[in-house]
Amino acid sequence: MAQKYQLVRGMRDIGPELTPRWREVERIIIDVVCRYGYQEVRLPLLESTELFARGVGESTDIVSKEMFSLDDRKGRSLTLRPEGTASCARMCIENGLLRNQAQRLWYQGSMFRYEKPQKGRTREFNQIGCEVFGLPGPDVDAELIDLLWTVYSELGITDLVTLEINTIGSGVARQAYRDVLVDYLKPFRDDLDGDSQRRLETNPMRILDSKVASTRAILENAPRLEEYVDEDASRHFDGLRRILDGAQIPYRVNSRLVRGLDYYTHTVFEWVTDDLGAQSAVCAGGRYDGLVEKLGGKSVPGAGFGLGLDRTVLLHEAKAARDYRQADVYCVVGSESEIVDATAVSNAIRQRLGLAVVQHGGGGSLKSQLRHADKSGALWAVIVGEDEVAENRVTMKWLRRDNEQLTAPLETILERLAAEQSGV
Ligand code: ATP
Ligand code: MG
Repeated sequence: MAQKYQLVRGMRDIGPELTPRWREVERIIIDVVCRYGYQEVRLPLLESTELFARGVGESTDIVSKEMFSLDDRKGRSLTLRPEGTASCARMCIENGLLRNQAQRLWYQGSMFRYEKPQKGRTREFNQIGCEVFGLPGPDVDAELIDLLWTVYSELGITDLVTLEINTIGSGVARQAYRDVLVDYLKPFRDDLDGDSQRRLETNPMRILDSKVASTRAILENAPRLEEYVDEDASRHFDGLRRILDGAQIPYRVNSRLVRGLDYYTHTVFEWVTDDLGAQSAVCAGGRYDGLVEKLGGKSVPGAGFGLGLDRTVLLHEAKAARDYRQADVYCVVGSESEIVDATAVSNAIRQRLGLAVVQHGGGGSLKSQLRHADKSGALWAVIVGEDEVAENRVTMKWLRRDNEQLTAPLETILERLAAEQSGV
């Protein structure tokens, strides 16, 4: 026997039993995003490694230990995108999309991070992201959050997610806080967990985000970020809170929330859940006014989020158990001589009613075909057998109701299906 191949560690297959739910979740989210006037962009899977090093930050987990990088044939380092914001900003700068105009953009696709795989954490995962460029105010931060609140409402999972917000200020004030924090933590250096010890040198504010109990205990008495936020940042944050309060969007201020990416300024937010074990973040975002300039563009403010689809689909599944059907109608074909007629019937149903029809393939008895029909989840079977063709009729059978069926001319069957369809 030939060698069997296995999935590469950390990748995941999304099989036919899962894709209907994925599509439903994607459809709902994309529909909301488009209703807020965001325009789609399609970004490449590969970018130069340098883009992420600069745009995400050398000291972040993503860049320091999670990138899938490879050298091309000329020895240039390329990386499979671990997130979308840096690519999106690069595209806008390169194509002059930020010249004297604001942009509201969205994208979707696979992201790659080399991390320890577990439920809800894989090395390939999917995100839908939104980015707004050119608008500096808290109204935009609020718009992104309001859009996400609508997404969670329409997915029916608002009770499974909680919004946390914070401000990490900007510029000088943040630098001042960083220094004070390092001064406070240095004497505890040996008691910090390994990651936090490393971050003390590279990215001290990330230590606030640590999940390690002993580190959290040390942080209890640490100087608080909010006391170092400058007036401008406080005003921005108050503005955001006023809009969220007015829109009655529930949130919790979490002064420990700092986010892992270097490019954030002012607002940061995260939607978290208790329903996915250790994988608590389902969406994260914030403002990144320094990013475009850092990537070689003119200084343009930005804000956005990345929503993790894999985890969102898991929440949707936890909330809404349902059977997705392969098709609405299953067409049973009497024998080989009826294939042409059956195909015409299937196509009439597809074209005129827009219903999904699976036409039986491979022959077999009426009984075995009806077993397949049942398994497909279809609501109705249409039977095109020898008798039906001889009489110019079609039999319609209700698969989810006992023994109900009707034999009539195709036009009548189409009308009946249309009437039934409007009741589903
Ligand atoms: P985490 O703390 O779980 O590692 P993160 O802060 O690294 O998340 P972001 O970079 O903010 O995540 O990405 C936004 C969203 O993408 C996350 O909230 C999460 O839903 C999803 N996500 C991130 N990494 C993974 C992964 N490895 N597998 C599945 N989903 C992921
Ligand atoms: Mg991560």
